[in-house]
Amino acid sequence: MPLKIADHWLTGTNSAGKTIKKDQTPNFYKPPFNTTTGLPDATIIHYTAMTSFSAAVKVLTTKYESGNASAHLVIGKAGEVTQLAPFNYRTWHAGESFYNGRKGYNSLSVGIEIDNAGWLKKFGDNDFSRKRLKSKGISFKKNQVFHGRHENPKVPYEYWEEYTDDQIEVVFEICKLLRETYGMIEFLGHDEIAPSRKQDPGPAFPMDELRGELLKDRSGEVQEGIVNTNLLNIRSGAGGQYEKVAQPLPQNAQVKVLEETDGWYKVRTEIEGWVSKKYITPTK
Ligand SMILES: [Zn+2]
Repeated sequence: MPLKIADHWLTGTNSAGKTIKKDQTPNFYKPPFNTTTGLPDATIIHYTAMTSFSAAVKVLTTKYESGNASAHLVIGKAGEVTQLAPFNYRTWHAGESFYNGRKGYNSLSVGIEIDNAGWLKKFGDNDFSRKRLKSKGISFKKNQVFHGRHENPKVPYEYWEEYTDDQIEVVFEICKLLRETYGMIEFLGHDEIAPSRKQDPGPAFPMDELRGELLKDRSGEVQEGIVNTNLLNIRSGAGGQYEKVAQPLPQNAQVKVLEETDGWYKVRTEIEGWVSKKYITPTK
C-alpha cells in the first residue's frame, strides 16, 4: 500500500520499501495547534545528534524527571520510519523558537528527527568523531562525512555526518505528503527557528532543495534580484509595522526571493526578512 496519511497517522510503505511503525510517546500536548486551523502549518527538520535509531526512539518516547523531548517522526538510515504521535498532537521538538514574526514552533509544526550524529571533529584523515563518541569507540570514515560550513557563520564546526540517500528521499516524500494534507506553509530547519542554540539539520541536509521541490508550483516568479534604492529596510514581516531585523540593505545588494505577499518579498541575503517589492529589480 503506498504511503498516505489517515487520521493523522502515516500508513503504508514508503519509497525505501519500509512499512511505517508506531510507537506512541507520552511526551505531547493535546490539540489544538496555535494556527487558524488548529492543525500544524509548518514542518521542522532535525538531526538526533545520536548514533542509533532505536536509542533515539527510546529517548523520545520516555518520560524522565526533566528534559523530556519528543517529535512526530524518526527517520532511520535505511529509510525506516517510526511515528511517535499523530500529527494533530503537539510534540516537544522545537523548544524556544522564533521565525518570521511567529514563535513557539511546538504549537505550529510537525517535528521530523533524522538519525544522524550531527557535527564532528577531525581526529585523523579518515577518522571523524566527537570526544564523547570516540570514548565509546564510535567514529566515521571520510566518505561518511560532509565537509562544509554552516549557513550561520557563528557555528564553528565544519564536518558533519552525511545523511543517507534513503533518509533524504523519505524526508522529501513525507514533506510532500504533509504539504498536500495540511497545506504546510513553512519547511524549516531547527537551526533557522532557534539559531542561537541549534545547528541541526546543518549544511549536510539539502534544506533549500526541499523547499524548492515543495514550492516548485511557484515557477515563473522572481527568484533573484538586486536592491534599487539607497538603503532598504528589512523587516520581520510583510508590512511597515514589523520591526527591522537588521541594518538596511545597501543599494545593489543581491537577494534571493523566497516568498511574495501583498507587495512584499521575503528575501535572503546574509539574513532573511521582508522588503517592499518595488525596491527589488529582478535579475532572474
Ligand atoms: Zn533539533
